[in-house]
Amino acid sequence: MSRLEDIVSLCKRRGFIFQGSEVYGGMAGTWDYGPLGVELKRKIMNAWWKYFVEDRDDMYGVDAAILMNPRTWVASGHTATFADPLVECKECHKRFRADHLGDFSEKVTREELTSANAKCPNCGKVNWDEVKQFNMLFRTHVGSVSDDSSLAYLRGETAQGIFTNFKNVVDTIYPDMPFGLAQQGKAFRNEISPRDFVFRSREFEQMEIEYFVKPNTWEENFDKLLVDVHDFLENVMMLPVDSIHELDVPEEDRAHYSKRTIDMEFDYPIGREELMGIAYRTDFDLSNIQRESGKNMEYRDKKTNETFVPHVIEPSFGVERLVMAVLTTAYCEDEVDGSSRVVLKLPDNLAPYRFCVSPLLKNKLELMEKAREVYAILRKKYGNVTWDDSGNIGKRYRKQDEIGTPKCVVVDFETLEDDTVTVRDRDTTKQDRVKIIEL
Ligand code: ATP
Repeated sequence: MSRLEDIVSLCKRRGFIFQGSEVYGGMAGTWDYGPLGVELKRKIMNAWWKYFVEDRDDMYGVDAAILMNPRTWVASGHTATFADPLVECKECHKRFRADHLGDFSEKVTREELTSANAKCPNCGKVNWDEVKQFNMLFRTHVGSVSDDSSLAYLRGETAQGIFTNFKNVVDTIYPDMPFGLAQQGKAFRNEISPRDFVFRSREFEQMEIEYFVKPNTWEENFDKLLVDVHDFLENVMMLPVDSIHELDVPEEDRAHYSKRTIDMEFDYPIGREELMGIAYRTDFDLSNIQRESGKNMEYRDKKTNETFVPHVIEPSFGVERLVMAVLTTAYCEDEVDGSSRVVLKLPDNLAPYRFCVSPLLKNKLELMEKAREVYAILRKKYGNVTWDDSGNIGKRYRKQDEIGTPKCVVVDFETLEDDTVTVRDRDTTKQDRVKIIEL
């Protein structure tokens, strides 16, 4: 199993992920993606969009504003209950998320912490204050006046931008039931202690689907979406089946809106943790919107004319947690010709670059020209191709191994004679001669 510090160090060294605002000493819980990381992240997000939206007839996309009318978060229950348990150590006055101090539920109390002898991670003492509920919504003010009337929130989940557009979509394109609305975008949570690299951030990206169904069909639709989620994780993200685990979340740990939740957990270097979740949200959100807005959220069945407020199944993915699962799976250290190397065995569809093209020697004009030609051909065909003529070939291979480029194409003197190139495979390091037109 790879170690988290090795992955963090590779991400920084090679330009995948940097600490947010690093030049100013950082900003806790924020991360910036560099040139390689943004490629990986976008490929993951695009693969998700293709799988769940483009390749299906029952899914449609939306892209809502991050700033929403604050009534959204009152109606959804977030202003009242979107909270984590916060506890302060009375000795050192550091604050922690109480349920993370051991094997506790989110309803943990001071008495439970004390009788379980849960020590302060900072000072080691057991002297806890009362556990309080800490609301995770970020507040801001919209417009030039900062008072209660201008209060707004950064969205805590993308889901509400979907629910608030349900009626717009039904009124405009009237999809057959069941159907799903999908959205990708930023979400913000004022996490008590952001940690474990991008795993728990304060600003992160979600990919959510609200799948609207007839109330009495929720179970079959839940099961179907669960199968799709497995298929996506195992056959598109190529995560190992034995690292993925279903957790049927008990009622006391479920979000306030959910009647059933299955968390998909993954074996990260930090342990087995939630990668994504699929929740049955009943008609909780649409009914709340109907009540708060006074607008009708019913759907009229096209065959029977029967009207009802749809129930909802929600598969909710965190992009950062997928990025971390993909990197955990890909990261590998092995030995090649007696020396150790780091290699990212990323699947072809997720690797930032599919090919790296280089001339054997930089100072030979005819090799440079031919290599540029091959580069142009591959670039036109595949798009994500990189060029490297720095250092010697061995160093180029090491660098491409670390950023996960599946194939390195080298143009040498033989190429000038027979239009073949050396293709070196990242995982096996085997080299083959291949005709340029067959690449
Ligand atoms: P956790 O229990 O780990 O705090 P959650 O159950 O609150 O997560 P959900 O509200 O179900 O998470 O959010 C859906 C998904 O969004 C999660 O499965 C995860 O992938 C992602 N996510 C949630 N919080 C964070 C965060 N702070 N940083 C990165 N991703 C997150």
